Amino acid sequence: MIDSRIERLCEKKGMRMTNQRRVIAQVLSDSADHPSVPDVHERAVKIDSSISVATVYRTVRLLEETGILERHDFKDGYSRYETKNEHHDHLVNIEDGTIIEFANKEIEILKERIAREHGFRLVDHRLELYGVPINSDT
Ligand SMILES: [Zn+2]
Repeated sequence: MIDSRIERLCEKKGMRMTNQRRVIAQVLSDSADHPSVPDVHERAVKIDSSISVATVYRTVRLLEETGILERHDFKDGYSRYETKNEHHDHLVNIEDGTIIEFANKEIEILKERIAREHGFRLVDHRLELYGVPINSDT
């Protein structure tokens, strides 16, 4: 099996890698979207049908705890995951659930200014925008 980016990160962190964990790591590495546990499970069972939702859930939690994955809540009832990478914010299309990633310099400057005005040095922030396409009928 091809070793994935997440698998290499796991090994670096000293995580014990079972075959099932390798498959889950591979699925996550290959996912360009922000999959939920059921999404990851659906993709993982195509490679190894013995993988249970519980195993996916536990593995994803572990990957989150070790700082490899980032968890998001886009208000659709699922936790969604992505590999921790360069900072970006999300715009959620509430009609079809698609997620657009963006980075905006003005927002970055503004959030730091707000923190400073309250006497804080900013260490993290999270921003989600929710919208409908302007040309949509609804
Ligand atoms: Zn993202």
